Amino acid sequence: MSSPASGRPRIAIAGLSVESSTFSPARTRIADLRPRRGNDVLDHYAFLQAGAELRSAADWVPVLQGRAIPGGAVPLEDYLQLKQEILAGLQSAQQLDGLVLDIHGAMSVVGMDDAEGDLAATVRQAVGPEVVISTGMDLHGNVSWKLAETVDLLTCYRMAPHEDALETKERAIRNLIDVLQTPGRPRPAKAWVPVPILLPGEKTSTRIEPAKSLYAKVPDIEALPDVLDAGIWIGYAWADEPRNMAVVMVTGSNADTAAREATNLAQEVWRRRAEFNFVAPSASLDECIKTATASKQRPFFISDSGDNPTAGGAGDVSWTLVELLERDELISGDLTAIYASIPASEAVETCVSRGIGVTVELHVGALSDAGPSGPARLTGIVEHIHHGDPVAEIEVVVRVGGLHVILTKSRKPYHLEADFLRNGLKPREADVVIVKIGYLEPELFEMAADWMLALTPGGVDQDLLRLGHSRIDRPMFPFDRHDSDPDLHARLVPTVGQ
Ligand SMILES: [Zn+2]
Repeated sequence: MSSPASGRPRIAIAGLSVESSTFSPARTRIADLRPRRGNDVLDHYAFLQAGAELRSAADWVPVLQGRAIPGGAVPLEDYLQLKQEILAGLQSAQQLDGLVLDIHGAMSVVGMDDAEGDLAATVRQAVGPEVVISTGMDLHGNVSWKLAETVDLLTCYRMAPHEDALETKERAIRNLIDVLQTPGRPRPAKAWVPVPILLPGEKTSTRIEPAKSLYAKVPDIEALPDVLDAGIWIGYAWADEPRNMAVVMVTGSNADTAAREATNLAQEVWRRRAEFNFVAPSASLDECIKTATASKQRPFFISDSGDNPTAGGAGDVSWTLVELLERDELISGDLTAIYASIPASEAVETCVSRGIGVTVELHVGALSDAGPSGPARLTGIVEHIHHGDPVAEIEVVVRVGGLHVILTKSRKPYHLEADFLRNGLKPREADVVIVKIGYLEPELFEMAADWMLALTPGGVDQDLLRLGHSRIDRPMFPFDRHDSDPDLHARLVPTVGQ
């Protein structure tokens, strides 16, 4: 039932998007999710802004969409409050044809096991079986049977780093409009295969094999006749829930084709499991510093990966900073080193009130996650203060010998050269740049003459086996040995209303 006046389908948008580690004591609150409502929801997507072709392809009903920087789990009461608002918004939206469920897929809610499955079931209940629901997810999201069963159309990113994030969200919407415009609105068959592997994102980057060629198969499968979409959800490693594992799905008009292609792709993922390796040479922080300082490659980047806020770390584990401050080779002044970054709101206030050029004694980090070290004691000179970054709010650079440490009021990952330049730092001219992220995002990757991944402690420790998962499905690669291959035949998920 299209809107009688316009003839266009009436499509609601709702969802909550965050990747959250259950190994981090941090919490993602409603304010962190920054819920958008009304036209702010639409304007957030470049392809739905006023004047864009898709904006006029439907009558949009923007309900509520929240998106947080990855972090800790969402408290139950925060989740229930936002869920209730989404539910109320959908119940008051009349005569919907479609719903875009914009989720990441790795939201953990305290006390729940499958938050997205629950959210999907809730919205389905609100809109009824006739409404077609489509979702475009992060490939680090999880697809439980419940989620697969509740949503009609599912797709996910095909690149890590996620350079195709927006394209994927758009594809989810175009898939939905395609179905809504097809006479009879036939729901596609859904073939679902869980693959018992659980790997950190830093081992599954599509820049390197085997993810590169596995993900390259996805568009080829999508291009087959009768296939609507295909995806490899590699899954999220830092939550301890039964749903956390890889999933392959293929959707399309022919169930046999979807099942065959999903089975083949899942078997290929499984067959190549032992080839997944870190995207850069990995070692202890000590070894990374020794290698970086001895190297002639400049700038030499080191990823402080265990507390990477873009994967769900609290971002304020100060263990690495404590170690850096004890390294003569970094603070003697012989080398120029940059550490980006650590949230330390009180220390930032102190620096702002004391001013540039003043020597300050600070306690830094360990606000929500003390890690193995507790806060770092940092005595240095306030070198630069910048107000106004929308994420960090206030950024301060404190210099200790040759080491320039970026402190932020709010948690912020540093991905761009401009993030450094605005703080008076020139990463291209530095000797060593240590960033609290995992794999280097494109600009830093291009800039790095060499790069190592330091296996540091935190809520997203890359050494999964030392985290102590106890609730994931077993056996699971690489946690366990499989005595025989798992059953990787696709299961056909019932279509809604069937
Ligand atoms: Zn991701």
